Amino acid sequence: MKPSKFNILSHGKDNPGHILLYNTLHDHRILFDDPDLNPETLFEKIQHGSPLSPKETDAAVDLKEMGILLDDDVDEQKVFEEWYHAKIRERTDIMQVTILPLMACNLACHYCFENAVREKGKMSPEMTDKTIAWIKRRLQKVRPENLNIHFFGGEPLLHTPPIKKIAKELWKFCQDLGVKMHMGMITNGVLLTPELVDELVPCGFEWVKITFDGDKEAHDHKRVFHGGKGTFDIIYNNLCAIAGKLKIAIGGNFDAENYDSMFSLVERLKRSPFADDIIVARFKPIMKVNSVIASQREGGGRLSSFCDVCAFNSKQVDEMFALQKKTLETGLPVQERPDIGPCEYHSRHSMTIGPDGSIYKCPAFVGLRNLMAGDIEHDDYNDQGEKQLMTQKWDHECETCHFLPNCAGGCRMAAVNQTGSLEIKSCDFQYLKEGTEEFMQREIVALSRSSEAYAVDLPSFDSLPT
Ligand code: SF4
Ligand code: SF4
Repeated sequence: MKPSKFNILSHGKDNPGHILLYNTLHDHRILFDDPDLNPETLFEKIQHGSPLSPKETDAAVDLKEMGILLDDDVDEQKVFEEWYHAKIRERTDIMQVTILPLMACNLACHYCFENAVREKGKMSPEMTDKTIAWIKRRLQKVRPENLNIHFFGGEPLLHTPPIKKIAKELWKFCQDLGVKMHMGMITNGVLLTPELVDELVPCGFEWVKITFDGDKEAHDHKRVFHGGKGTFDIIYNNLCAIAGKLKIAIGGNFDAENYDSMFSLVERLKRSPFADDIIVARFKPIMKVNSVIASQREGGGRLSSFCDVCAFNSKQVDEMFALQKKTLETGLPVQERPDIGPCEYHSRHSMTIGPDGSIYKCPAFVGLRNLMAGDIEHDDYNDQGEKQLMTQKWDHECETCHFLPNCAGGCRMAAVNQTGSLEIKSCDFQYLKEGTEEFMQREIVALSRSSEAYAVDLPSFDSLPT
């Protein structure tokens, strides 16, 4: 027998004698707190063919059933690839559609170049109907258990007719089809009203993601109206007005200028009337898109991050985790694990529809015509879309990486941005390593309270490459 290459072990810093085993492929988290059952010793014995104690023998049987120990002849890369095919690329339990009703925005954030193209690209009534019809056809074909609709932009609330029509028609269609529909919106929050929320909640509107770039002073410097006026109070008050109605995800973009103010922001959010609605708060460095990509994009795009849905970044990892620590200490939730993927790009039945009916595999691609995966005049992806789905996203080095199931070769937009190619991995190993270590320490504390003992070789964090 041999241990899975996707096992990671971590020793409890505040819980001596507690060892957590985390398997990134199966998402098993097992706490060992029995002095007679040490996973490192067990794995070593198994690898050397040494005799096992009765307790170790029992544990080995269970661990094999869980895919944490494997027969020597198992090709685990093949196991991973079969998992990727069935559970990620061709999954049919979830269909996720991100819709951009328009590319324009009512803000002029300093790090965003949408400003130059503000008036372009608004979804017409005809395109709205075609979008609804396209999604309905896809739903009938795929029959997923869940449909996730995300509205994004530009600023989606600048153009609500498509949002209302799509939400209402698809909700009814999903009810008849037996599909559970969930809806969320990534908005700057300036136009968010209780009336709109009340109108859309019956159609499955569940969450909003809102960005604060620091406390009032710092935010008002970065996230401004076109005349330069800050937006903090408007957004904050709008969130107060919808308290209790929606789940709220908080995002934030930082650079050297506003980093310190993120700490006071976290405290203010915790004291807010909507603190109990916050499901996650996560803060990322402001990203720079290379000038070639920026010049190719039609209709706009964000420089703050490639997508506001995903969390990834290897830059300024220490700053990110210091903020995460502060968020936790303050009592707000953080992202559980530092997954980069496999994101929606990897799944056949997840896609982004632009205001003109163009279809992309990633929201950050919208406007990059060479990356268009299809359009709503056609039910299937075009050759570029199929190629994006089918091309391998990881390389030989990834095949020996613990994080392959949480990464699958990294963010594709980052790959294009960094290398110009979709087919080269974009490695954020350091981010995954540090984030996973933090996550495992939290798991040790949580599981120690309801300990389920158990047990396995693998390198600990200390031996992972950096
Ligand atoms: S891209 Fe980097 S972190 Fe991701 S699987 Fe490959 S080696 Fe691991
Ligand atoms: S490819 Fe990158 S930007 Fe696009 S959805 Fe995935 S993580 Fe987000």
